[in-house]
Amino acid sequence: MPIRPDDICPRPQPLPPLPTQPHAPPIYPASVWECDSPQQADAMLGGNAPGYVYQRDRHPNADLLAEKCRQLHGADRAIVTASGMGALSAALLAQLEAGQHAVVSNRLYGKTLVLFGSEAARLGITVSVIDTGDLAAVEAAMTEQTKLLLVETLANPLVQVADIATLADVAHRRDCRLLVDNTFASPIVCRPHALGADLVMESLTKTMNGHSDVILGLLTGRETTWSRVPAVVSAWGLASAPFECWLAARGLLTAHLRVERACRNALAAAEFLRQRPEIDRVDYPGLTDHPQYGLARRQFATGEDGKTLFGTIVAFRLRGGRPAADAFIHAASRIPFCPSLGELSTTLSHPETTSHRGMTSGEREALGITGGTIRLSVGTESSEFVCNALAQGLTAID
Ligand SMILES: *Cc1c(COP(=O)(O)O)cnc(C)c1O
Repeated sequence: MPIRPDDICPRPQPLPPLPTQPHAPPIYPASVWECDSPQQADAMLGGNAPGYVYQRDRHPNADLLAEKCRQLHGADRAIVTASGMGALSAALLAQLEAGQHAVVSNRLYGKTLVLFGSEAARLGITVSVIDTGDLAAVEAAMTEQTKLLLVETLANPLVQVADIATLADVAHRRDCRLLVDNTFASPIVCRPHALGADLVMESLTKTMNGHSDVILGLLTGRETTWSRVPAVVSAWGLASAPFECWLAARGLLTAHLRVERACRNALAAAEFLRQRPEIDRVDYPGLTDHPQYGLARRQFATGEDGKTLFGTIVAFRLRGGRPAADAFIHAASRIPFCPSLGELSTTLSHPETTSHRGMTSGEREALGITGGTIRLSVGTESSEFVCNALAQGLTAID
């Protein structure tokens, strides 16, 4: 009797024997894994044995990516989430509960301010939003109930540098944990755990993947911060998908090359922009007269040439305000207007109409953002290409 098609088709097929190992990792899209016995399933689900049961709890592509990120950050633990916001949500839910308090920077990613604003409030968590560059203000905002302090290594869009070591000291004296959003820097530029941060998050969507084709997040932490993190990620459904993790792990293979090149280009672009009469202000921590140049040198890594890497983001302000920004963005046609960052190609964004559109013009002005502010995410082209493409945009301004 031949076997019937309806008995063949649904049977899962075991892999053929693999006497050689693939030089690139496979993708494991399986939502569920076959267990040998109830004892084994019990041990794996309880976290007492290695192995996989259900994709929302763990899967090999996420573990592979998380492990490489853990090493890059010098962290005890790491977990990959479905997005950068998923990683921030995991940190919030694992570290805070009703009645507790967080102190957060007023220069955070827009959606982070929503999460630590109306969303945290709905959970009974109170939040003070302050200028974390002012250490006296940080001290003054902290209470007995403050359990989390949140800053970005390089703030959006004007790339102010957070003094991570000092903020970690302030937090630890109060039994509070420091969470750093390191998205703009990446571990190639800055490793906040080495400076005292307890938790680090990154949007892997940006520089770490680098190819504009993935949404993913990362949370890393010290052992003492981790007890609730895996359970929170599983129960709140924050887990990542295998194919995205596979793509991001591939992107990560070249992160050090991309970031070093882009940092060099960013410095060249900042020096070029500074000489242009159409521009009245350039913000880049690699410019020696930047107020945090010294802090950046202390906190940031050096590249192959022994020189400090100051990041890939440059902000500048056009004297002509919004009309000049419109003309520049139209004329700089070789620099795509993409309201994201960390891509292979140089891109630009206009904070007033994208990342900071939720604020009033008064609030934006208080942060130094005007209609003429442009945020440049510098890519890996030649520095001549980047400067020429910027010059092409600037010549259109009258
Ligand atoms: C993009 C971004 C996030 C959010 O990450 P997603 O992957 O888009 O969810 C958080 N912080 C910063 C600084 C970002 O740039």
